[in-house]
Parts: sequence; C-alpha cells; structure tokens
Amino acid sequence: MKKPFVDANTLRDIVATYPTPFHLYDEQGIRENARKLHQAFAWNKGFKEYFAVKATPNPTILAILKEEGCGVDCATATELMLADQVGFKGPEIMFSSNMTSLEDFQQAHSLGAIINLDDLTDVEYIAKLETIPETICLRYNPGGQFSISNEIMDTPGEAKYGMTRPQLNQAIEELLGLGVKKFGIHAFLASNTTTNEYYPTLAKLLFELVRDLQEETGAFFSLVNLSGGIGVPYHPSQEPADILAIGSGVEEAYNEILVPAGLGDLSIVAELGRFMLAPYGHLIATAVRRKDIYKNYIGLDASAANLMRPAMYGSYHHITIAGKENAPHDHIYDVVGGLCENNDKFAINRKLPEIELGDLVIIHDTGAHGFSMGYNYNGKLRSAEVLLKSDGSTELIRRAETPEDYFATLKLPVSSRL
Ligand SMILES: *Cc1c(COP(=O)(O)O)cnc(C)c1O
Repeated sequence: MKKPFVDANTLRDIVATYPTPFHLYDEQGIRENARKLHQAFAWNKGFKEYFAVKATPNPTILAILKEEGCGVDCATATELMLADQVGFKGPEIMFSSNMTSLEDFQQAHSLGAIINLDDLTDVEYIAKLETIPETICLRYNPGGQFSISNEIMDTPGEAKYGMTRPQLNQAIEELLGLGVKKFGIHAFLASNTTTNEYYPTLAKLLFELVRDLQEETGAFFSLVNLSGGIGVPYHPSQEPADILAIGSGVEEAYNEILVPAGLGDLSIVAELGRFMLAPYGHLIATAVRRKDIYKNYIGLDASAANLMRPAMYGSYHHITIAGKENAPHDHIYDVVGGLCENNDKFAINRKLPEIELGDLVIIHDTGAHGFSMGYNYNGKLRSAEVLLKSDGSTELIRRAETPEDYFATLKLPVSSRL
C-alpha cells in the first residue's frame, strides 16, 4: 500500500487555504532522504550531490537541499540564474548541458560552475572563455547497449549525449593544451532504475575508464560524476532503491579499482533529480466532473499540463482518494484532465473507491519532473506549489499563474494593419 505523506483531514485544511490544483511538497521527507544519501556516501570525502534543477526548479526546494549540503546541476542560463539567486556558489554548481551556446558557457564560467562537456566540439567554446577553467568534466557515451547482468538497461548508442572513447582522449589532449588542470568523467546510462546495481555498475565502468585515461594521457582526475538515474517506486509493486546498499556497492568498486591505481582521493559526485524529490511531491486535485459512456471517466481540475509524465511516457502514478484510503477499490475509472487531447489521462482502467464530485484526489510521486514539465496547452495555467513544512505549517512557494501571466508575452491589442 502506498500512503500519501499527508492525511485527509490535514489535506482538507490545506485546500481551504490553497485552491486545487497544486503541487504539495514534504519538507521532512526531502530532508530525511537527503541525509540518507549523504550517509550512504559518507565514506567518500569529496562526495557531493548536485540536484538536477530541471526536476524541481523551485528556489525554496533548492534552498532546503542547499541546507542539506547539496549543490545544483544546471543545463541552461536560466537555471544558472536560479541557482545564483538561491546563493549557490562556484563549485556548488555543476553545468551539464548539451548543444550549448557560448553565452551559456560564459555564464556558467562567470559563476565559477564546474563545466561538464557533452561533446568534443565544446572544447572550442572553452578556448573562447575569458579564462580557462581549472577543472573540466567530460561526458562519456560508451555506445551500444548498457546491460546489468544480461538485462538491457538502455541504449547509449541511440542517445544524443556524450563523447566516444577516442573523442575523450582527444578532448583531454586539447584541454591540457589550453591549460586545464583537473578532469572529471561523467555518464548517464539508465534512467529511473530502482535496481541497486546501477550506480555500482556505472561506477566500475567509469573508474576503469578514469584509470585508463590517466595512464594514456597523464591527465589528473579529481572527480567521477555518476549523474542521475536512480529511480523511485512509482508502482506499489516496486521495491525502492536501497541507497545505503548503493553507496556500499560504489565503495566496493572504488576500493577495488581506484585505490590500487593511486586514485583514492577522487571525489564521487551525483546529479540525482528524481530520487531526491519525486516521492516528496503530490499533485492535489479535485474531482470536478464525471462522465459515463463506453467507459467511466472522472474529470479533475488538473490536467497533463500539470503533470505530463502519463501522457508523455504512459507512466504509472499512484492515486489515493483522500479519506477513502481504506474503502473497497471496487470501481474502475479513467481519471482524466480536460485538455482537448485524448492522452490527457492520469490513470486508465484504475481500480479505485467510488469517487464523488468534490473528492480530493492525490496523485503520488510528482515531486520531480512534475510541475517542471508543465505547459500552457489549451490555455491551461500552471498551478501553485505549496510546501508542507517540517513543523506542519504550509507555505505558498509559487503562486498559480493567472490569465495575466498567459497574456504577458503576447502583442495585444493586435494592430489593425497586419
Ligand atoms: C535529467 C538529468 C539528471 C537527473 O536525472 P534524474 O533521472 O532525475 O535523476 C541528471 N543529470 C543530467 C545531465 C540530466 O540531464
């Protein structure tokens, strides 16, 4: 049984203050999880989690993670501005972008961020910066398929990211020539995986790569970036990843490969997004309409514009009807939004208790890649974001959009002579 982090009575109080729909975040859950991650990697002196800003780009959330010792991973100038506003400084910022403009690299460098190059041709852009960064990280793409004990996890050969093995050597040679002093290696080879084997397998691959690259090029390596990819159990049948076991698995690979190679000072860093936030966000909506045709539909005041994952990837998001947690799940519904687009469905053929109009609907695991993937299709407005604080109080951490926000970028009135 998946339980919401908020009970029905508390939720009714919150909804009396903040009209649905909105995203609700659990400060306590976020903090406890971040602490557990740091405990799992406490064996590594330089460990740092750079939270992937794109997952939950809200300054209050970023500030909570900052207090817990995290940095941020940005990919665009706007995300860098957000990081800067929250007070992240220099090496607390990782810049892992792709197809990047010179302006974005310049902005990252002016903030002192660690720049993670996606491609060999990025080296020309580094050469154009006002000064040459001391540290550069390089993103590796091994091509082919990425497997863990014979199970295919993903297909890096089809992914647009990273450099080939020979390109890594060439990038290092060129960057050494420019005066870069320290290097990092990065790869992101599987997304949303709850297997405890992913990070240790990736770590082994990257540790061997660093050992070999150091031998081949003489470059000094200071960090290995395991990036994101640790998943969460969206479906009740899934087991959560065991972060302590994952930390030990990486430590084992570290002691086996890096320590004997004289690389025992290397820092492990991560760019987790989903793992840090997904379970600690709920999309709170109200059942506003019902419709019975060939199937039974419940219409919410939220839509795919507030949570795109089901429409985009067919993702499962668990649903709880507040106050009916223990009622028999003897009705079958499609739970939908009101976009004029038939993929706007939060759940299809879902067994749920009987839903009445006005019921509060809790959509689970929306804390990462939820609000942030939102859009304005059909003139739907982005929702508010509310923080449920550790002391039980709530805070509006982003107001809902208004029609004025929607119209703000438009040229109106339309000139009479087009
Ligand atoms: C999206 C992304 C992440 C975070 O991924 P999660 O699956 O949320 O952990 C980390 N690094 C990079 C470069 C990314 O693009």
